Amino acid sequence: MHRRSLLQTGAATLGGAVAAGCASVVASPGAQTPFELPLVTIPIVGSSQVFPVRRIYCIGRNYAAHAREMGSDPTREPPFFFQKPSDAVQYVAPGSTADHPYPSLTKNYHYEIELVAALKSGGKDIAPEQALAHVFGYTIGLDMTRRDLQRAMGDEKKPWEIGKSFDRSAPLGPIHPVALTGHFTQGAISLQVNGVTKQSADLRFMIWSVAEQISKLSQAFELKAGDIIYSGTPENVGPVVRGDRMLGHIDGLPDLSVRVV
Ligand code: MN
Repeated sequence: MHRRSLLQTGAATLGGAVAAGCASVVASPGAQTPFELPLVTIPIVGSSQVFPVRRIYCIGRNYAAHAREMGSDPTREPPFFFQKPSDAVQYVAPGSTADHPYPSLTKNYHYEIELVAALKSGGKDIAPEQALAHVFGYTIGLDMTRRDLQRAMGDEKKPWEIGKSFDRSAPLGPIHPVALTGHFTQGAISLQVNGVTKQSADLRFMIWSVAEQISKLSQAFELKAGDIIYSGTPENVGPVVRGDRMLGHIDGLPDLSVRVV
């Protein structure tokens, strides 16, 4: 009895501490900070509003042929995820070609063209049937990868971070609200480098659909409005060097044009 009351007291105290901790994470309006942090945002097509980015999640090996080329078995094992920092976003306006800096440390810099879903709401343990109701819109993006560093870390059973989660590793276009485009479950996805087609597949070849990705991801993390999800790349990833121009395409979205400088 005594022990039980102690546990209850402890739980109440812990709850209070957690609540206080949460309160300190979100600054009250007008809070003074010693320096300014920019909010990472992406333009929204057909709107004067911009989409604020909370987190960038990426799914790995979500097309069977790409899983095979990366040396793994493409059977439907649970999907796995990694993150990029939200300020890894490099916005690329449709009709323009953005200069994308070749990053430090790598000698094998790879493109991965991907469909990107942007969430307007979230939650935990979201059922696949409910998942698409949380999607605000979609865009096209590149999950740029320092492949040599990713592989070296993988070989040593160390985190992929340095290969995937570096500055400007997430070039992407504007967010297209679902009301304008519907949901993307099929359609061509491709990438050209200097006019030569390198990647060419169909969104319907994803192992895990966007709805299933959201559902699985929400078991591991509480998803929230502002989260964006890179949905994996098809096969035939490969390197670019300075001077190369990448042109990404997904049916129903404007092309993404990036030059490596
Ligand atoms: Mn990827």
